[in-house]
Amino acid sequence: MNELLERFVRYVKVETTAVEDTTDYPSSSGQLELGRMLVAELEELGLVDISQDPKSGVVMGTLPGNAGKGPAIAWLAHMDTSPEACGKNVKPIIHKKYNGKDIVLPGDKSKVIRVAEIEELAALKGKTLITSDGTTLLGADDKAGVATIMTALAHLQANRRIKHGPIRAVFTCDEEVGRGCDKINIKKINARAAYTLDGSGAGELENETFSADLATVTITGVNIHPGLATGKLVNAIRLTGLFLERLPWHRLAPETTGGRDGFMHPYVIEGGVPEVKLRIILRSFVTAELKDQAKMLRAAAASVMTEFPKAKIEVKISKQYRNMFEHLSKEPRAVALAEKAYRAAGVNPRYEAIRGGTDGSRLSEMGLPTPNLSVGMHNFHSELEFACLEEMESAVKMLIELAKLWGKEKK
Ligand SMILES: [Zn+2]
Repeated sequence: MNELLERFVRYVKVETTAVEDTTDYPSSSGQLELGRMLVAELEELGLVDISQDPKSGVVMGTLPGNAGKGPAIAWLAHMDTSPEACGKNVKPIIHKKYNGKDIVLPGDKSKVIRVAEIEELAALKGKTLITSDGTTLLGADDKAGVATIMTALAHLQANRRIKHGPIRAVFTCDEEVGRGCDKINIKKINARAAYTLDGSGAGELENETFSADLATVTITGVNIHPGLATGKLVNAIRLTGLFLERLPWHRLAPETTGGRDGFMHPYVIEGGVPEVKLRIILRSFVTAELKDQAKMLRAAAASVMTEFPKAKIEVKISKQYRNMFEHLSKEPRAVALAEKAYRAAGVNPRYEAIRGGTDGSRLSEMGLPTPNLSVGMHNFHSELEFACLEEMESAVKMLIELAKLWGKEKK
């Protein structure tokens, strides 16, 4: 447990905030720095085929199997942290035997982790929690994943009587800006199944994600000086209002839906009188429903254009990612053995469908089945983020059980 905590504290202190709107990869140099640190530690642990890809910063290393010729599996975590909160000068604070009360963060006393606001907090009374000082995020997302993987590898190396197949550790970049899989070569990973260690709490077994498309809507009006506009001006801003109003938000917005419902979500608007561009994400657990959502957008566009024949509204759809469930069924052991491993580690597995995507959605689609597992992070992407050490520890145990179970598989 000490080793796990030490690793975690060491990793969160490296600033690895991902940067949006850059073509650099990785988007920030701190990710390379953490990567170098991990390479050195993997070498110290005696792993083989260790590399930090010079073009992408992705770190890989292999723990060779010691149990026959079973299939390789991979454990993935991302090194970057969310750009939604500062990740510079993270000062982790360890709250031993958490007293069950609100936690006031000392660096910014307006930042309070409240029992009344965080459902799972009360149940963590007595455990060791780790927070930031309130001026930054903590970065448990996903350094809890990195620390968990490193600790599990160290444990397997130190206890060679535990039989397991080959295990590939993969530390990725820029997950938080949606580019986590851009530079991943699944041929190089060469594993039968992979696991992202990027889930909250304990016992989550995320085997379903949304399917996702992006709609870019370009609304073109006719611009002219307002003083000369009579009968001529067509204002793209007003058309945008009309267009949005004609969509069924009461049943298809993230704020009006939950559970297994899909939604459409306009999240970027830019432009002016001559032209407005909207970006709308389309989400559903059923891939075919994305087509219905696109149809609704086109129908709303058509109805506005009928009313304003001089206007033009163009709806372009691009594919983002697909529900991993469809692809996980091709290698049922990926999920089945994870469930078994949780139980063997004394954790009750909970199947979850994520109202979002993970790197695993894309990897599964690329042919590497990749469910997502818990690593004890909570409330991430904010200064109120925290991690639970005992939950991280059960993630380590779970990984060791998982290694053993896959070690018994033949192919
Ligand atoms: Zn994450």
